[in-house]
Amino acid sequence: MIIDGKQVAADVRADVAKKVSELKSKGINPCLAVILVGENPASVSYVTGKQKALAEVGMVDRSVHLPESTSEEDLLKLIDELNNDDSVHGILVQLPLPKHINEEKVIMAINPKKDVDGFHPVNVGNLVIGRPAPLPCTPHGIIVLLEKAGVKTSGAHAVVIGRSNIVGKPVSLLLARKETNCTVTMCHTGTKNMAEIVKQADIIIAAAGRPNTVTADMVKEGAVVIDVGVNRIPDETKKNGFRLVGDVDFDAIKDKASFITPVPGGVGPMTIAMLMQNTLEAASND
Ligand code: NAP
Repeated sequence: MIIDGKQVAADVRADVAKKVSELKSKGINPCLAVILVGENPASVSYVTGKQKALAEVGMVDRSVHLPESTSEEDLLKLIDELNNDDSVHGILVQLPLPKHINEEKVIMAINPKKDVDGFHPVNVGNLVIGRPAPLPCTPHGIIVLLEKAGVKTSGAHAVVIGRSNIVGKPVSLLLARKETNCTVTMCHTGTKNMAEIVKQADIIIAAAGRPNTVTADMVKEGAVVIDVGVNRIPDETKKNGFRLVGDVDFDAIKDKASFITPVPGGVGPMTIAMLMQNTLEAASND
């Protein structure tokens, strides 16, 4: 069965929109500031998607698009202003930033209460020890997809491919929480016999950023396959000259898996939907 991430994300947004109008009737106008520095085409398209979702759920959009040449000092000054602006509930800095800006410094500068990406070390620490925190959007979206598809996670062996701070590590933590109750194995480029390990998985989370990282021979019959990868590969038949593929060999695996997410239309829309939810929660906690 193909998990329709577009539909699940639309349901999450509809639920957020309802709660936004309830908050508005109490005089609270949920507001997100998305900061984009430069013209990275993928980032521009992600930010456009976020702004579209903000309009759809009825939130205030305080997004700022700064030129590539913006100094680190000016960006930090803007974050400080937004931190101190009570009408702004969430701040998101679109990554990657231009090379002359220290990303870690920028993430650290965001007030953890307004950190709707869940990347601030305070929120990462809270996630690790099970305290309330805004959950990172992509990993949280993956958990919601599993829930909505009715996947039985308790006792399942989940194999996560990737150990990045934004996907691999946090999704491994969420899968291992008592409420999800998976046994988790995290793979990376230092993993030996990855194919053997992935073959034991009841749930595979592929977040390597490389096409065909998971091939059909690595997948157990009936496994659940969540494809996080977004890779641009050249395609002359497309107007923009490329198409998007995930990290798994979708066509070869779709009949073997019990559930599988497509790319595009799987995890991607969930990331934005969970961002809307985190912003709503930040405004509700205000
Ligand atoms: P990243 O920071 O580049 O991390 C990739 C991870 O995968 C690293 O830990 C790397 O291992 C591991 N890896 C790479 N090739 C591997 C291989 N052949 N075998 C085993 N492990 C391998 O990437 P990311 O930010 O986590 O993103 C991963 C993918 O998800 C990308 O395609 C990205 O575009 C996509 N993504 C999608 C969404 C969405 O909303 N759909 C959101 C975020 C990211 P090492 O640590 O050893 O280098």
